[in-house]
Amino acid sequence: MENVSVRKIKNCRLCHSKNLKNLFNLKSTPPANSYVKKSDLNKNLKIFKLSLNLCKNCGHMQLGHLVDRRKIFSNYLYKTNTGKQNLIHFEKYAKKIQKYYLKKNKKYKILDIASNDGTFLSFFNKKKFLRIGIDPAKNLKKLVEKKGIKQIASFFTEKNSIKILRKYGKFEIITANHVCAHLENLYDFFYGVEKLLTRDGIFIFEVGYRLNVIKKKTFDTIYHEHIDYHCLKPVVKFAKNFNLELFDFDLVEAQGGSIRFYLCRKNEKKIKINKINKQIKIEKKYKLFLNKTYYLYFKNIMKIKNNLKKILLKYKKKNTEIAGYGAPAKATTFTYFFELDKNIIKYIFDDSKIKQGKFTPGKKIPIINPKYFNLYRPDIVIVLAWNYYKDIIKKNKNLDYKPKFLIPFPKVKIL
Ligand SMILES: [Zn+2]
Repeated sequence: MENVSVRKIKNCRLCHSKNLKNLFNLKSTPPANSYVKKSDLNKNLKIFKLSLNLCKNCGHMQLGHLVDRRKIFSNYLYKTNTGKQNLIHFEKYAKKIQKYYLKKNKKYKILDIASNDGTFLSFFNKKKFLRIGIDPAKNLKKLVEKKGIKQIASFFTEKNSIKILRKYGKFEIITANHVCAHLENLYDFFYGVEKLLTRDGIFIFEVGYRLNVIKKKTFDTIYHEHIDYHCLKPVVKFAKNFNLELFDFDLVEAQGGSIRFYLCRKNEKKIKINKINKQIKIEKKYKLFLNKTYYLYFKNIMKIKNNLKKILLKYKKKNTEIAGYGAPAKATTFTYFFELDKNIIKYIFDDSKIKQGKFTPGKKIPIINPKYFNLYRPDIVIVLAWNYYKDIIKKNKNLDYKPKFLIPFPKVKIL
């Protein structure tokens, strides 16, 4: 874990203002995706501060510290999006975009940034679209190109955008899904996009929506990979720095509730101003731009933490065997903040083959294939992927015994 650097973020990442207000501090954690191999169990992971700031100038919310992304993403590179829900999401999304381009009889160019294994691009008709992806995961390039999609194995930066421009020209469509909250330099990224967009082209980016973090209380989606917590109002203003305009948006279910922003060059598209203003009003109604909202939010998480601890201690005393279910990245924030370690949770079941046999970051809780559920027979299962608890319970209803499922959040519940 040497050479890991972390620095304080002193300016708003969207408007550069120094007027930042600290909202709350979560527990320091290691990078949320740094699952540990058995052979590395003796090494201790470095932990980093995890705090949130609100920009009092434009209303943007961001982390207080930035961890070197080379460390964070080294484990990310192997992630592929093959979950069924995710495939349906991408297919619907691609269909919607293609509808705009059905009329004209020509070939269009689409660039997908952070294209991963090419899943999203594969839903674009190859006769109608020249499909190009860019992603730093070198190991995915071959796999993607087998699908007839060109893949550039690198990060997307302004510098790289010039190379792409020379080779492929400009693009009618540029997309970036679940990457614009992870960028070290947002401005550099947007300058690159702006260079590559045709005059009437569209840039679409999807990110987790801050309103959902507040409304659905998904505080565990706060971890070092997610530097920015976007919502409409600040982004409308931010786009203007690049002579871009937000002309539409969609609210979608992906990743626990996301927002998809549609941007174009200035004066190129009709702006859905009523729709946008209506949503900004909702953001204000939920008081997304007031410090107090977050103080109360934090207080609520603390209350649940204390309540959960009491319940778990009671069970521990009775020698109950407690397991967890689901070890997504957000479980790192969750287990650290709620102080759930090996002494409380003996092991965690997770469906992901990549994680099975490994240990959770820092807390070193073993991750086990759920097919061994009947063998291990825990008495209580804490659902760590708590926002999917219905699916998890449904999936495990045919066990040969009846364990209790504990939903820790947004209110402790035992089913
Ligand atoms: Zn700002």
